[in-house]
Amino acid sequence: MTASQTEKVNLLGLSLDKLAAFFDSLGEKRFRAVQVLKWIHQSGVDDFEQMTNVSKALRQKLADLAEIRAPKVLEQWDSADGTRKWLIEVAGGNAIETVYIPDGDRGTLCVSSQVGCSLDCSFCATGKQGFNRDLTAAEIIGQVWIACKSFGQLEPKGPRKVTNVVMMGMGEPLLNFDNVVDAMNLMMEDNAYGISKRRVTLSTSGVVPALDRLADVTDVSLAISLHAPNDELRNELVPINKKYPIAMLLDSAKRYIERMPDTHRKMTIEYTLMREVNDRPEHAEQLAELLRDVPVKINLIPFNPFELSDYQRVSNNALRRFQQILLDKGFTVTVRTTRGDDIAAACGQLAGSVNDRTRRSERYRNAERPVRIVG
Ligand code: SF4
Repeated sequence: MTASQTEKVNLLGLSLDKLAAFFDSLGEKRFRAVQVLKWIHQSGVDDFEQMTNVSKALRQKLADLAEIRAPKVLEQWDSADGTRKWLIEVAGGNAIETVYIPDGDRGTLCVSSQVGCSLDCSFCATGKQGFNRDLTAAEIIGQVWIACKSFGQLEPKGPRKVTNVVMMGMGEPLLNFDNVVDAMNLMMEDNAYGISKRRVTLSTSGVVPALDRLADVTDVSLAISLHAPNDELRNELVPINKKYPIAMLLDSAKRYIERMPDTHRKMTIEYTLMREVNDRPEHAEQLAELLRDVPVKINLIPFNPFELSDYQRVSNNALRRFQQILLDKGFTVTVRTTRGDDIAAACGQLAGSVNDRTRRSERYRNAERPVRIVG
C-alpha cells in the first residue's frame, strides 16, 4: 500500500452521520452520502466508478480523497451443516475470525471487535492470546460486508442470509465502545443493512461503566456472558468480575433493559457449561435464584475444548439436568448446539496461531495448571 492510499478516508466504517459530515466537508449535500452508503452496503461496491448515479466529477473527487477498503479474507471454510467461517486479515498483519451460523430461516453472523482480548477469561481461546488492538469501525462492519458479499446478499434480489448479528466473536465489544457503536449503527441503518435492533446483539463480560453508557447511544439487544452463578466461581472464570461483581453487573444490565423503548425486551444470559466446574445442580439452583427478578432468557453453551484449555465439555446428563432445573423454575432456556465441528474448534483458535504477540499462550503452556474451584 502506498503512503497516499493510507491517507485516504476509508468510507466503509463511516455511519450515515459521519459520511454526511464528510460530504458536507466537500460541499456536497446529505443525499449524496445516502447514495454512497447504499452503494457500499447494499450493493457491495468498493469502486467509485461503479456508482452510476454519482456525477463523474464527484466520483473523481472521491477517488482522490477516499477509499472503500474492506479487510482481506485469508481463508474461508464451509461446514457440511452450512456454517461458514472466515479468517480475516486486518491492518498490521493481524487476523480475526468471523463465523456464520444458519438455523432455519435465521442466519447469525458472529462478529469480532478486537484482535485478541485483555480480559483473559479462563475458558476462552481468544483470551489466551492476550490483547493486540481494537478493530476500527471499518474492520468491524467489514466482516458483515464480507459475509453478505460471499453469499451474494448484496446482489440485486440476492438471498437474505445474514439476518442476525452478534458481537460475540473475538474481543470485549464494550472495550472498543465507539467503533462498535458506529458499526452496529450501520448494521441497523435502513440505507445500509437494515437489520432490526432486536437482531443485533452486543455480548459483554461485564464492563459496567461502559454498559452504563450504552443506552445513551443505542438500543441493541444485550447478552451477558455470565458463566457462573456466584462471585467466587466467576472471579476464576471471568476475572473482570473481581472489579465488577455479579450484582453490580446485573444491576447495570437491568437498567439498560429498563431504558429500552419496547417493554418486553429480555437480556440473554450466556452460560458456558464446563464439566464439574459450573454444571452441578446447586449451580443451576443458584443461577435460578440469582436471576429470579431479572428479565432473561438463558442460553446454555456446552464448552468446546481447545488445546490450551483446562476444562472439559459438560456431559449430556449434566446438561439436561441443569436445563431441567431452570425450566422447572419457569425460565426460557435454550441450548446452543455445536455447529461447524468439521471446520472449526473454539472461537479464536485459528486467529490465535497468527496473532499471539504477547506470548500469553506460551505462558499458559509453561504455567502450572490453575486450581479449580468447584462448588
Ligand atoms: S470470553 Fe470474551 S471477554 Fe473473555 S477473554 Fe474471551 S473474548 Fe475476551
